[in-house]
Amino acid sequence: METLNQNDDYVKSEIERSMRHLADPKVQHAIKVQSYIRSYVTDFLREAGYTEIAPIIISPLTDPLNHPVYDPKIHAYGGDMWITQSMIFHKQIAVQELKKIFIMSPNVRLETEEKAGTGRHLYEFTQIDIEALEKSREEMMSLAEDMIIYTISRIKKEHSEELKYFHRTLPDYQKPFPVITFREAEEKYGKGFETKLSKDSTSPVWVIDIPLKEREFYDREYPDRPGILRDMDLIWPEGFEEASSGGEREYELSQILDRIHKKGQTEEQFKWFIELAREGIKLTTGFGIGIERFTRFVCGVAKIEDVTTFPKVPGRISL
Ligand code: AMP
Ligand code: MG
Repeated sequence: METLNQNDDYVKSEIERSMRHLADPKVQHAIKVQSYIRSYVTDFLREAGYTEIAPIIISPLTDPLNHPVYDPKIHAYGGDMWITQSMIFHKQIAVQELKKIFIMSPNVRLETEEKAGTGRHLYEFTQIDIEALEKSREEMMSLAEDMIIYTISRIKKEHSEELKYFHRTLPDYQKPFPVITFREAEEKYGKGFETKLSKDSTSPVWVIDIPLKEREFYDREYPDRPGILRDMDLIWPEGFEEASSGGEREYELSQILDRIHKKGQTEEQFKWFIELAREGIKLTTGFGIGIERFTRFVCGVAKIEDVTTFPKVPGRISL
């Protein structure tokens, strides 16, 4: 990564930028909306029997991700640890005993510089990260739909003044959300279909049955359809693009090892997880939905940095 010279001028201009950002009424309103979303999602999940657990910040085990990022690696105590890129493995392990969990999970993903202008990427963000034991993909899709409908309807009822500020009208979305398979979406909209699908939709829409090469090793392959995963992405409508990714998870040791090998990854990298899988774990299913992207969609703003207090835009060292 290019080294930024954090000289006094740089620091001064970044601080001034932060202060201007925090003083911007649009940002202040969006931060309020984010706070309501956090609260309503939490109310909904507790009511649905989910226990909130504390986030993990550092561990020898984290999500490998399926796209290139700079490594958030720390050398300490004679070994390597990672800053959490996602809590996928911790979720899978904790839920074996706790059955239904969620985390307001801060993730650090040192995204590459070309993501700076997408309006959707920060290198520090928070996921509402949810996992349940022995539930199917379809059951978790239904939970996500209920959660989104509940959250949006409370914002409309209790904080219409915020939506008015943003000149935003949101319809009452109906369950079930439309579903399209990855293959159908590619046939209809072409490769890299997400933007077109999102612009073409008036409701959040599911993309299911994603091919193995598009995802990490841990999402579960259909037992009878090699190469296709029992996973799902949720796409926001109106061009706001991806809201969430999730799926059923691999839990059988032989399948986990096979998938790690197919990805060209090493068993060494995942030895903590492999050891646990060797002890025996059960099927879990879950998803993660970015709070900043959720807020951006509800407010209808173009830039994700406008919905958060100290935005971390890829490529830029900021407060
Ligand atoms: P993933 O499982 O990698 O799709 O991440 C789960 C969710 O976190 C995504 O669907 C987004 O809502 C959110 N997310 C992922 N990466 C970022 C990022 N760099 N900036 C903001 N939100 C993100
Ligand atoms: Mg995703």
